[in-house]
Amino acid sequence: MDPHTEPSKTQRQRWPLHFRILAAMVVGTVIGLALNPGKIPLTQDVHLQVTRSDEGISVQETVTGAEDGDAAAILFRESFASDDEFRRSYPRLMELLGENDTVQVPVTDGVARVQHEMSGTTVIWQRKHNEVPAVSQFSAREIDQLPAFWKQIATEHPPGVTHQVISLVRFIGDLFLRLLKMVTVPLIATSLITGVAGLGAHGGFGRMFGRTLFYYLGTSLLAITTGIILVNIIQPGVGATLPGGGRTISSPEGTLGEILIAQLLRMIPQNPVQAFANGEFLSIISFSILFGMFINVVGGDSGKRLADFFDAAFHVMMRMTTWIIGFAPIGVFAFMLYATATQGFEIFGILAKYMITVFLALLIHGCVTLPVLVRIFGRRSPVAFAKAMTPSLLTAFSTASSNAALPLTMSCVEQRAGVSNRTSSFVLPLGATINMDGTALYEAVAVLFIAQATPGFDLTLAQQITVAITALLASVGAAGIPHAGLVMMAIVLQAVGLPLESQGIIIAVDRILDMCRTTVNVWSDSCGCAVIDRVTNSPQSES
Ligand code: ASP
Repeated sequence: MDPHTEPSKTQRQRWPLHFRILAAMVVGTVIGLALNPGKIPLTQDVHLQVTRSDEGISVQETVTGAEDGDAAAILFRESFASDDEFRRSYPRLMELLGENDTVQVPVTDGVARVQHEMSGTTVIWQRKHNEVPAVSQFSAREIDQLPAFWKQIATEHPPGVTHQVISLVRFIGDLFLRLLKMVTVPLIATSLITGVAGLGAHGGFGRMFGRTLFYYLGTSLLAITTGIILVNIIQPGVGATLPGGGRTISSPEGTLGEILIAQLLRMIPQNPVQAFANGEFLSIISFSILFGMFINVVGGDSGKRLADFFDAAFHVMMRMTTWIIGFAPIGVFAFMLYATATQGFEIFGILAKYMITVFLALLIHGCVTLPVLVRIFGRRSPVAFAKAMTPSLLTAFSTASSNAALPLTMSCVEQRAGVSNRTSSFVLPLGATINMDGTALYEAVAVLFIAQATPGFDLTLAQQITVAITALLASVGAAGIPHAGLVMMAIVLQAVGLPLESQGIIIAVDRILDMCRTTVNVWSDSCGCAVIDRVTNSPQSES
C-alpha cells in the first residue's frame, strides 16, 4: 500500500527485476546448498523385498535379520497399483520380477545387488544403498511418526537449524504463491472482457478478424505440438522428484471423448458466480468472452460505460500483478533455498533438462515454423523481417512483457518493415493479448514435465490433448505482462488434476524462460502482421 515501502525508482533502474531475480536465485541456491544436511550413511545391512499380490506390488526394506512383520525393522515401504507404476521407480527390478514373485536383495558394502540368469543373459540390478536422506529436515513431530529405525537415526542426528530455515522459507514461498493465485481470476476476467470488448472499436474488420483469429489459433497449436513432441522425446521429468512432491495422486480417468465432453460442459457454467468463486477457469474464460462480446452487441452508452469500467479494472489488476511480481526475488530466493536445502545438487539436473526442453521447442517454433509461414504466406524474407523487428524483440526479451514491447512492435512493423497501419493497429494489440505462441508452448511443456515428475501420474494421449487445449486457452487468457503465463498455468494443472503446489520449483527458473517465450510471443504477432497484411490487403511486395 505504502509507496515508500517499494524500492525507489533509481534503485529499480540500477537493478532491473530480472537481475534481482537472478541474484536471488544464486544467493538462495548458495545458502540452500550450504544448509543441505546431505545424506546419512547407512551402515547396517538391509533387505529389499518385493512382493506381488492381487493388489499390486509392494517394496519393503527391512534391517537384515529382523523378524518378519517386525514394524521397528521397516526402513521403507511403498506400494504400487500397477506394473507401470512400479517400473517407473524400479525399472530394472521389474525385469527380475518377470519370473519371480518375490526378490530378496541383500545389501553389502552399501550396495543392493541381485544377479539373475534370464534367457541365457545375466541381469544385474543394483542400487547404491548406503544413504538415507538426512532427517534433520523433519520436525520433531514428523520424526515421532517415523518408523522406529528412522527414529533412532533422528535421535543421533537431531533436527537442527536447517529444519527451522526450511520451514521458514517454505512459508515465505507459500505466501508468494498465494499472492499469485489471488490475482489470477480477476486478471483473466478483466483482461478477456476488455480485449474482446475492444474489438468493437474496429468495426468492419470482419474478414481480417477471421483470418487473424485463424492465424493466432493455428500458430499457437503448432507451438504446442512442437512442445509436446519434444517433452515426450526428452522426458525431462521422468525420474525427477519435485520438492514437496512425492505423493501419489490419481489421474482423471476417461476416454478422449469423455474428457473433451467434460471440458465442453465446464465451458458453460450453470452459475457463473459459483464458477468465479471456485476458480473454475474454463467457465470463467468462456463467460468473460461472451460478456465482452455482448458489451459490443448492446453498444451505446451502456456498452461504453461497461467497457470503460472493465478497462479500468484491468489496469488496476495489471498494476496489482506487477506489484506482486515485484516480490518475485523473495519468492525465488525462498524456493531455491528450499529446493537446494532439501535436495542438494540433484535439483540442477532436473531443472536443466526442463529448461533445455523449453528452449529447444521455442527455438524450433521461432526459427523454423514462423519463418516458414512468413516466407510462404507473407512472401517476405524472414531474415530481413527479423532484422527490422530487432528493437521490439530485444525489448520483449528484456522486459518479458508483450504489452511493454507493443509500442515498439507497432513502430517497427510499420516503419521498418512497411506493414500497413490498417493491419498493424488491429493485429498487434489483439495479438499482444491473445496470441502467445511461446506461452502456450511453455504451459504445455511445464505441465507435462510436472506430470512426468509426479509419481504414479501417467498422462494418456487423451490427457495430453486436454493439456494442449487448455494450454491454448491459458495463453489466450494470459495478460502480456511478466510471469502471466505462470499464473495462468493453474488452468492447465487443474484440467488434468495436478496440484497447484507442484509449480513451486519451476517458479525459480521462470524469469529466464519468460524472457524467451515473450520474445516468441512478440515475434509471432509480428509474423502474423506480415502474413495477414499480405493475404488481406492488396499484395505488397517486399521492398
Ligand atoms: N510474459 C509473457 C508476455 O508478456 C506472458 C507470459 O508470462 O507467458 O508475453
